[in-house]
Amino acid sequence: MPPKGFKCKQCGNCCLNLSGAFETCATEEDVRLWNDEGRDDILEWVDPIPLGDQFIYDIWISPRTGDDVSRCPWLRKLPNQDRYICRIHDVKPVHCREYPRSRKHAEETGCRGFEN
Ligand code: SF4
Ligand code: SF4
Repeated sequence: MPPKGFKCKQCGNCCLNLSGAFETCATEEDVRLWNDEGRDDILEWVDPIPLGDQFIYDIWISPRTGDDVSRCPWLRKLPNQDRYICRIHDVKPVHCREYPRSRKHAEETGCRGFEN
């Protein structure tokens, strides 16, 4: 659930500028969902790194080059508009779904979701 009073303005700031918005890792829950949904198109951008008896799911790693990408591959700017959409909105990673955690978090990170 988004914080009370929040409405995304689709400005794209979180996806374009915040490393926390996509440069971290997917969770077990994300990977399970993508497997269940048959989303190989997403899974091919995930690099599972074994760590002990678990994995760290590094994202987004280009399936073509094996390198980190500088911009989330699922972010699209709408033509002739200053608005962005997430092409995997319904199944985006937990850390994207949970952004921003609070009004304070939004204010500190340049999110306009609490502006009128
Ligand atoms: S997966 Fe979607 S919400 Fe997350 S950074 Fe990419 S475009 Fe933004
Ligand atoms: S920064 Fe806030 S208002 Fe802008 S796209 Fe991200 S969540 Fe939406």
